[in-house]
Amino acid sequence: MKYIDIHTHAFPDTLAERAIEGIAKVSGDIKPKTNGTVSDLIRAMDEGGVNASVIASIATKVPQFDAILNWSRSVMSGRIIPFASIHPEDGGFADKVDKIIASNIRGLKVHTFYQSHAVDEKIWFPLYDAAQEAGLPILFHSGFDVAFAALDLAHPWRFRKVTGNFPKLKIIMAHMGGWLAYKDFLKDMCGKKVMIDTSCSAGLCPIEVAKEILSRHGAENILFGTDCPWGGQKEHIRFVKDFCPDEKAQELIFYKNAERLLGITLTERE
Ligand SMILES: [Zn+2]
Repeated sequence: MKYIDIHTHAFPDTLAERAIEGIAKVSGDIKPKTNGTVSDLIRAMDEGGVNASVIASIATKVPQFDAILNWSRSVMSGRIIPFASIHPEDGGFADKVDKIIASNIRGLKVHTFYQSHAVDEKIWFPLYDAAQEAGLPILFHSGFDVAFAALDLAHPWRFRKVTGNFPKLKIIMAHMGGWLAYKDFLKDMCGKKVMIDTSCSAGLCPIEVAKEILSRHGAENILFGTDCPWGGQKEHIRFVKDFCPDEKAQELIFYKNAERLLGITLTERE
């Protein structure tokens, strides 16, 4: 089996230690599984048998677009697929998306908790519009967040307004469609034209609920992800096998859906 992890985090070497410490401090008892660097992510991927990983950087401030883009370009490889990020209070979204595409970058990350605007706020719409036009996928943090109080900035019901306004936008709702909000995903977004990832769900999303999501949302719409360093590769591979015993369906979840969505072929990139 091959594996593409659609959802990991890593930082420039000079920032990694501080970034990991900062997030770990507000993340309860979740112990980070890497030291936050790309080289340690690759070590974890080797241990877990993962071929390639998406790194989901987040622009938490307006001026960070270029720095994230440049760093993303510098770490891009056959095994590392960096996503760019644009703050919603930034501007020039179409130009920025053009720059992303020209850099051969395969997607964008949106994390509303760190970017201070709920997913269905109009401030995002020019960015969604540009991404939809360009066919650029957006990986959205979805559901609650361990580091924040129970805010609903990225709750499944809010995505209905996004898909309603941007029906062709390629949406990935992380964390089985909503971190600790699995029933809300089933109620509000299951069966709609979005993909979900499995990140940070092993041991949290009950297997029976994951099975229901699989049967109602379809294996072709589920992507393997870990949220490494906050989730482990091995435990998430096991999680997928537990809720999806069918091997053909596992192939879709572990790498084929990601190949199709990102426009890559793993064999050429190994
Ligand atoms: Zn994440």
